[in-house]
Amino acid sequence: MKTIVQKDNPVLRKKALAVPDKDIKSPKIKKIIKDMMDALDREEDGVAIAAPQIGESLRIFVVSGKIIDYLKTSDEETATDNKESPDMVFINPKIKKLSKTKKLVEEGCLSVRYLYGKIERAQKAKVEAQDENGNKFEMGASGLLAQIFQHETDHLDGVLFIDSAKDLRDLPPEKIK
Ligand code: ZN
Repeated sequence: MKTIVQKDNPVLRKKALAVPDKDIKSPKIKKIIKDMMDALDREEDGVAIAAPQIGESLRIFVVSGKIIDYLKTSDEETATDNKESPDMVFINPKIKKLSKTKKLVEEGCLSVRYLYGKIERAQKAKVEAQDENGNKFEMGASGLLAQIFQHETDHLDGVLFIDSAKDLRDLPPEKIK
């Protein structure tokens, strides 16, 4: 079982390496992706995870199927109770386009427990990546998913949201209750 590393771990500050085409379907990369999905599933509020967050300095991130469900239904209850959509894997992702329109949005991170703050994110983002089979795809998103694309690609460049977020607050779960 892989634990999620926390903010002082130097792996979170490294520029992660691209996954070579020939390695994408290797057992090693498959195992890393599986470990990422498992770590993400254990976090009730987890929406996405980048490989450096489980200590692997590689350009991979996974978006939880919960989010895909949520975007389809816009019903948070059903979306979090029963995950129907599969997790989405982004290997060697590149941001191709960001909208000029930016918004100040609330953000947190599984590796920066339990700080939350406000950060400027482009309202729309387009990402190009490879899937688990190495096939290239492009995906455009707005709102929450666009925010996730930006947060996760930042992770692959050693950037954490607290580097530029404002109004940081420490909100451990016991304080919310
Ligand atoms: Zn994060």
